[in-house]
Amino acid sequence: MQIAVVGSGYVGLVAAACFAEIGHQVISIDNDAQKISRLQQGEVPIHEEHLPELLERHRGKALKFSTDLVGAVRQSAAIFIAVGTPSTEEGDADLSYVESVSRAVASAINDYKIVVEKSTVPVFTSNWIRKVMLLDGAPSELFDVASNPEFLREGTAVVDFLYPDRIVTGADTERCSSALCEIYRPLTDGSYYSRTDRAAVPAPAGWSAPARLIATSTKSAEIIKHASNAFLATKISFINAVANICEAVGADVKEVCQGIGSDSRIGSRFLNPGVGYGGSCFPKDLKAFRHVARENGYDFNLLSAVIAINDEQRTRFLRKVRTALWTLKGKKLAALGLAFKGGTDDIRESPAIEIAKSLLKEGCEIRAYDPAAIERSREVLPSKGISYHDSAYSAAEGADALLILTDWPEFANLDLERLRSTLGYPIVVDGRNLYDPTTMASHGFLYYSIGRADVQPAHRNGSPEKMATATSGKAAK
Ligand code: NAD
Repeated sequence: MQIAVVGSGYVGLVAAACFAEIGHQVISIDNDAQKISRLQQGEVPIHEEHLPELLERHRGKALKFSTDLVGAVRQSAAIFIAVGTPSTEEGDADLSYVESVSRAVASAINDYKIVVEKSTVPVFTSNWIRKVMLLDGAPSELFDVASNPEFLREGTAVVDFLYPDRIVTGADTERCSSALCEIYRPLTDGSYYSRTDRAAVPAPAGWSAPARLIATSTKSAEIIKHASNAFLATKISFINAVANICEAVGADVKEVCQGIGSDSRIGSRFLNPGVGYGGSCFPKDLKAFRHVARENGYDFNLLSAVIAINDEQRTRFLRKVRTALWTLKGKKLAALGLAFKGGTDDIRESPAIEIAKSLLKEGCEIRAYDPAAIERSREVLPSKGISYHDSAYSAAEGADALLILTDWPEFANLDLERLRSTLGYPIVVDGRNLYDPTTMASHGFLYYSIGRADVQPAHRNGSPEKMATATSGKAAK
């Protein structure tokens, strides 16, 4: 099928490349002419596994890049809208980019098309798209509006797109629903995975069967996306709250997670206590979901609590740093991680960035390292007081403490002997629980993590010692 994907960001670019990969002819559109020109020249603007190889394979053949939205609409049978939907001051979704694309699509309609929301949008957006398109002169029989929410995760976006858990298609006419089924058929009938001309992108561990396509109304599909993100964020805030109780009573949240996560009704995924969720989706989507609920007469208080716990988690982490270091002004801190999570260069709403900003305000000197997000971070962090490094060890050189802020796999596999001898003081404050406290203490670290006892090296009896909560005097030299 001939497809146009409007918006060539994290979602649009991955979707465009993957649609080409499963056999469609795709035009990836953006109004950022510089981005399109870089894509045409072979640059890959985001850090995402497998994306460079897909772009290389399909660029100029099944996948073209353009700023000409009207031309792309005329050539395409399906137009996917994948532009940003940021939060407004009031917390609802700013749909102005979606509206402007819808109007441009309306002006270009020449035969039947499906217009598909891939951006995350509140319920009723498809009605609004239809309304503005009709007002802008698009004949009602020449288009249908559908919702096809995207569930990919940054860091594993290509694999998530090609090996999804489920595909949700919200459509209100049979014609539109069948067109969406057709687009995803290579994934749902498994033909993409058994192709013989070249290898498919490898399946993730544990993958067993092609995804189920769940066909719903457009409104249900819109709610499915908001509700999924809200549920996942709730799981994170829930375990962070449990971690805080564990800290208060001296229990170990890792043991608690094993205990609750092994209940198959709960599951162990997303039970990772830390500095809280961030990124371009959860924070804005929770606020938008709460807002649309309120507008429709329901006060979704649970989401307010989830957001409040998440905000508090960063403050608690800063308190932990203070506990470890006593005073902060002038302290040299190695910060491992700036991206909102491992595997991506995305720093939008990153807890790591917010924590770095707060510490800079306190007069700390930050020595930062991130495998992919340094360039983007330079654009948002103050230039004074921060230096960027090309490895964890270089960042740790002479630092008063090491802070782990992002869960990049390489941060979980540091050479602990080398790290200890590189740091000025052997203090690690781990906001992602990447290490085992006993191991850290036995390597000579004072180690602070989330929902577990703070530990220090054995001094007297050979076993690691738990610290009392107020350890600032001991930790400072
Ligand atoms: P993004 O900011 O990376 O990309 C959006 C792109 O749209 C930008 O390149 C921008 O230049 C372009 N754009 C804006 N207005 C345009 C217009 N009028 N015409 C053409 N292009 C235009 O955003 P993203 O992270 O890809 O997110 C897009 C949507 O997908 C959002 O609604 C988001 O909530 C949703 N989503 C994101 C993720 C994720 O992990 N990033 C996952 C699922 C869903």
